[in-house]
Amino acid sequence: MFEAVRELRPLGVGINIQPNAVRELYDLGIGPDEMDKVGLPAKEWALVGLNGNDIYSENARPARRLQLAAICGASRPLPHAAREHIHGPRRRGTPFVWVACVTGYENNTDGSVTAIVEHADGSTSRETGTLLIGADGIHSSIRAQMHPDQPPIHWGGAIMWRGTTMAKPIRTGSSFVGLGTHKHRMVIYPISHPDPETGLAMINWIAEVTVDNSEGWKNSGWFKPVEIDDFIQHFEGWT
Ligand SMILES: Cc1cc2nc3c(=O)[nH]c(=O)nc-3n(C[C@H](O)[C@H](O)[C@H](O)COP(=O)(O)OP(=O)(O)OC[C@H]3O[C@@H](n4cnc5c(N)ncnc54)[C@H](O)[C@@H]3O)c2cc1C
Repeated sequence: MFEAVRELRPLGVGINIQPNAVRELYDLGIGPDEMDKVGLPAKEWALVGLNGNDIYSENARPARRLQLAAICGASRPLPHAAREHIHGPRRRGTPFVWVACVTGYENNTDGSVTAIVEHADGSTSRETGTLLIGADGIHSSIRAQMHPDQPPIHWGGAIMWRGTTMAKPIRTGSSFVGLGTHKHRMVIYPISHPDPETGLAMINWIAEVTVDNSEGWKNSGWFKPVEIDDFIQHFEGWT
């Protein structure tokens, strides 16, 4: 496995882990008990209008656990699971590389494939195998080589500001709530169990607007800290 990033770190505050991803964590030995230490299963998924009325809601099904979780808490099973995933194959004796960037590949006449690998120290190597799986994200260099005529990734115009607030959880106490419209909305869900004394839980929120994208994406990065005053004007009048 080649992974470009030098250090695995939790990023951001909260995450909703979809049922298929929860299944993967179960397979890695991160079960419901461990998951409960960093968050809580969603009891409900709800779309709500600005007047507070339901547009659509459904109760969670236990067999399809949607996990609402903090990824910056004291106990962090997600990076732990990732490390296990990565170090497990090494323990079983499979060849393994940690920090290395795959910059491209070549198909060989015998049906094998050679990955061109750039290492952290600047050296390069070539690794040949029967199959190359490019799971290298939205700016995949493998996909770029496979489909050179494809245009760059198209930004849809959505901008999201994310944060947490200690508050009383709304609705079921463990609801994933989308409030507003698809172009102008808040997504709100708790990522901790409520404090038994105060009833307050850590609430993860995402404030989102969709803007004109005709000029393309100009701000670099998607992890820039900002002040509330930088975006609160989009939500004036919301209660
Ligand atoms: C701020 C934010 C919040 C999100 N919140 C949620 C959420 O709550 N719930 C949810 O389900 N989804 C969420 N998502 C979306 C989710 O993170 C992505 O859909 C998912 O991570 C995509 O997985 P992936 O494996 O395809 O790519 P990635 O997670 O991007 O993984 C690609 C990996 O490949 C490595 N890599 C890249 N290039 C190379 C290369 N050339 N050589 C070697 N390694 C390389 C990268 O370092 C990375 O580790 C969020 C995304 C963002 C940005």
